[in-house]
Amino acid sequence: MYIEITEAVSNYICNHADIGYESRYKQERMGFLFGTESNGKIKITKAVSYKGGLRSRSSTLFDGNKFTQRANQLMSMFRKAWIGTYHTHVEEDGELFIGLSEEDKESFMDDPIRVGLIVAIWATDDPRIPRQGQKRFLAVKQMGNTNYRYSISGYLITKHGPRLAKLKVI
Ligand SMILES: [Zn+2]
Repeated sequence: MYIEITEAVSNYICNHADIGYESRYKQERMGFLFGTESNGKIKITKAVSYKGGLRSRSSTLFDGNKFTQRANQLMSMFRKAWIGTYHTHVEEDGELFIGLSEEDKESFMDDPIRVGLIVAIWATDDPRIPRQGQKRFLAVKQMGNTNYRYSISGYLITKHGPRLAKLKVI
């Protein structure tokens, strides 16, 4: 089982990460993912930001019922299945956390979703960042005099918890 996301989705979630990164004190951002699942592949074709909740650097506090309501609304609007959520991790004090926190693991199990994406972002010219890996997708965007560097990780939600899966951008 692997995860495919379109280039438009990749650009959308990276742009959303930028907005959080550039806001005062830096902030996490999150949203919904829509798409299809067939033949061992999950394909994500649409991402939509979630505007609700109280955002801080490393979390978003939100009402789970409102969040699910919004997902259902978007599903009927786009006629696509709600397949996952994404949120961003921003660099803090020179560290970039690209993995899952305990809160991430728990929150992924709360919703009827198949995929959780993490977009980690750091403004740095260090080519070793983010850490390379077989499964994660790395992207770099030039921003003025520096680069924004991203790592996108895709987790399949199984009944035993989230599992890192291979992510392809098409
Ligand atoms: Zn997280």
